[in-house]
Amino acid sequence: MTNSIFATLSNFFGTVKRVAISLLRALKTTVPYLLNHNPNSLRKEVTEQYPDPVSSKTVDDLPPRTRGLLHNEIKECIGCHECEKVCPVQCIHIESERLLDTGKEWVSVFDIDHSQCIFCALCVEVCPTGSLTHSKRYEGAALERKQLIESFGEGEPPRRGEFS
Ligand code: SF4
Ligand code: SF4
Repeated sequence: MTNSIFATLSNFFGTVKRVAISLLRALKTTVPYLLNHNPNSLRKEVTEQYPDPVSSKTVDDLPPRTRGLLHNEIKECIGCHECEKVCPVQCIHIESERLLDTGKEWVSVFDIDHSQCIFCALCVEVCPTGSLTHSKRYEGAALERKQLIESFGEGEPPRRGEFS
């Protein structure tokens, strides 16, 4: 009976000792971060607060090849549908028609569903005019998914004779 009590107590204090050693090892790693004193320069802090009131970084500070939300400079778009065809998730929807007066392709609807886009840039690569680009905009939060559909289309085409 006495041996059993000693064995139980021994197990208990053994477990407490192992937990205490484990805790001290963990604290040895985390406390220097907490006190902002990290002796190992290879593990220095690299994250930044956002929005950062100190550096005041803007979108212009992002790397030049940043893939932000897509933008279509619709006046340069020729409605070739190449971007729509290449998109692997079909998040571009285009409606266009050729105008009889000018022979120009009128892009009445050019919608991009940013909620579906995977930012692969295939559409940008195939665009023959360079009208479609990745902007540096990255703040796309919305309350509803349909608000993430952005329209660049020119709307209803002008009637014949309405060209200036
Ligand atoms: S970036 Fe990729 S996923 Fe997004 S619209 Fe272009 S082709 Fe589609
Ligand atoms: S590939 Fe470029 S030019 Fe062609 S429809 Fe798309 S955005 Fe317009």
